[in-house]
Amino acid sequence: MNNLDLSSLSRRDFIVVAGSAAAAVAFAPRFLFAQKKGIVPTMIDAAAKATIKTYPLRRNISVLEGSGGNIGVLTGKDGKLLVDSGFTVSKPRILEALNSLSSDHITQLINTHWHIDHTDGNAWVHSAGAAITAHVDTRKHLSTSTRVEGWQYTFPPVPAGAIPKTVFDDAYRVHHNDTQLDLKHYAPAHTDSDISVVFEEADVIHVGDTLWNGIYPFIDYSTGGSINGMIRATEGNLSAVTDKTIVIPGHGPIANKTSFEEFRDMLVTIRRNVATLKKHGNSLSATIAAKPTAAYDAKWGQFLITPAKFAGLVYSGV
Ligand SMILES: [Zn+2]
Repeated sequence: MNNLDLSSLSRRDFIVVAGSAAAAVAFAPRFLFAQKKGIVPTMIDAAAKATIKTYPLRRNISVLEGSGGNIGVLTGKDGKLLVDSGFTVSKPRILEALNSLSSDHITQLINTHWHIDHTDGNAWVHSAGAAITAHVDTRKHLSTSTRVEGWQYTFPPVPAGAIPKTVFDDAYRVHHNDTQLDLKHYAPAHTDSDISVVFEEADVIHVGDTLWNGIYPFIDYSTGGSINGMIRATEGNLSAVTDKTIVIPGHGPIANKTSFEEFRDMLVTIRRNVATLKKHGNSLSATIAAKPTAAYDAKWGQFLITPAKFAGLVYSGV
């Protein structure tokens, strides 16, 4: 087990493997080691090596997994529509995966939020012919130098072509490839720029980073995110789906309504544990030492955001 290369595993594989405690022990040190160089370089390195896996969902909708956030793809006569663009280092493998779906050119790109693991590919996808649509705050953050304290990283403004030209505040509708797409802004949750994308006829929803399926989420307090916002967004997601809805999370394997329930329960319980510790005067390090996430770590603590890191993210917001 120790010789397995983590970066070659898809998140789907990883979640399955991580279900076993022995595997979790084998993997954890590699992640901790990788994180010493920072989360952003770690994500880019992983994307540089990862194979892109394609999962057909329903009708003409598929998901590509392996380059930062999950990429939704809608194929058809109007050209491919992508939801998020992954990391630029994955371009040849993303193109290969897209070409295996159909020969349509890329004509539309929607960003679920501004983070680099969902927008780094914007420049090449735009050059390939896509018009870019996003929330107005995605354009704002991509247009200026933006610091994310939680990643200890400052992002420079992106090139002009990578900036969304069509932006909206609350909601936006697009008709493309015989599909009605409903784009809706969340109240600030993971960031202030999060949107959901519903593919109406197929009953599929891409919820961006308001759901990390089976793994502790990153919460970006620097651009409007908060634990309370994440819980509120999850309640909204729960009321927006049925048992039949297919859910594309920002990270982790394809999800469903139950995934939101499990995510909500995890967020609410850990928030309560951390808030109690903080209320009793515990410092951040004392709170982390008290292991407020312990009951969830075996399942949720095996990816980029470690139990200690997640406890710290919650601590900032209670
Ligand atoms: Zn994100």
